[in-house]
Amino acid sequence: MAVPLLDLKQQNLALHGELTAAFDRVLRSGQYILGSEMDAFERAVAPLAGAPFALGISSGTDALLLALMTLGIGPGDEVLVPSFTFFATGGCVSRVGATPVFADACPICFNLDVADAERRISSRTKAVIPVHLFGQAADMDSVMGLAKKHGLAVIEDGAQALGAEYRGKKVGAFGDFATYSFFPSKNLGALGDAGLLVARDEALAEKARLLRTHGAKPKYYHHLVGANFRMDPLQAAFLAVKLPHYETYTRCRQANAADYTARLKGLEGVVVASPADCGCRGGAKAATARLVLPVAYPHVTHIWNQYTLRVPGQGRRDALREHLSLRGIGSEIYYPVPLHAQPCFAAGRVDRGPWPVSDQLASEVISLPIFPELTEAQREEVVSAISEFLASGR
Ligand SMILES: *Cc1c(COP(=O)(O)O)cnc(C)c1O
Repeated sequence: MAVPLLDLKQQNLALHGELTAAFDRVLRSGQYILGSEMDAFERAVAPLAGAPFALGISSGTDALLLALMTLGIGPGDEVLVPSFTFFATGGCVSRVGATPVFADACPICFNLDVADAERRISSRTKAVIPVHLFGQAADMDSVMGLAKKHGLAVIEDGAQALGAEYRGKKVGAFGDFATYSFFPSKNLGALGDAGLLVARDEALAEKARLLRTHGAKPKYYHHLVGANFRMDPLQAAFLAVKLPHYETYTRCRQANAADYTARLKGLEGVVVASPADCGCRGGAKAATARLVLPVAYPHVTHIWNQYTLRVPGQGRRDALREHLSLRGIGSEIYYPVPLHAQPCFAAGRVDRGPWPVSDQLASEVISLPIFPELTEAQREEVVSAISEFLASGR
């Protein structure tokens, strides 16, 4: 049985009637930029996103860019970002002319190693961008402590973690800004590109709103140099249809993750990562297992954008991926090259290596199908393929 990594069509076709009606409504409204569809979606999603002021943005990448622009970060400034993340987290820092300074990761929760980030602070450091990677919150107590101690702004990259919680509070409720993505494969996926920026402070939100439309107020009177960072009302209308189902999508992902862990952890050489070994505050231990399963920490609500295994040992991760692929099972490597090793960042870098955990994760991780509509038979197929791989001695 083939098991795709993702099946976006299935989720959207289940809402065919409502999505078509939303399209029809926008079509007939004649309002194709901003307007009431956007306002309604921004209001509806804000509580989930952790902050009262929400702005629909053209993408998660643009939301990061807009947050940095609003904070006035630019040439000569440094911004701490995890090396083990999607490209946009670091790319946006370069786009505003600032320098991304890459910090290492935790091998257990995959998030920013805050102790390592602190070692890389200089007099030019202006902000830190914790990423809630794969749907699990970064160590926000440590991040906020670091920010306070050094006077840094905080932008939470919540692209993979809409609605995830840290100590009972939604992610997005901690930083000056939080950014989200509705890229189709994210937990709340649009039918195209879309993103969100949220802020706790009204004045910051208003500045961002101005910059979202070329810094103009009123139209054609430009106080600041902004850009066009607007989400389409059509996407807002689609997202408003999907939003009421979000809790169900999340519960299905959580059930899929729990089922994978329950089935896989009994296999020879498989261990579940231990929160006790968390490396977010430095000093992580090396794992010796043949397969390390991801863990949801007890103090967070993990929303499982990805279910990411570690396969230690030279070449073993790639061998597992090949084995799954031969059985028609989709998987993906998030991420094969840490940001510190990307050629585009080679010029003008402030190199304060090493990044041993990011390098190790890039060679060991593999993400399995975890989408909400995954069936029990499909999970069984994935588990049986992994079991076969391990049994073959690889
Ligand atoms: C997806 C993603 C982004 C970018 O979002 P887009 O909407 O694709 O621009 C940024 N950061 C992280 C961690 C992401 O996963």
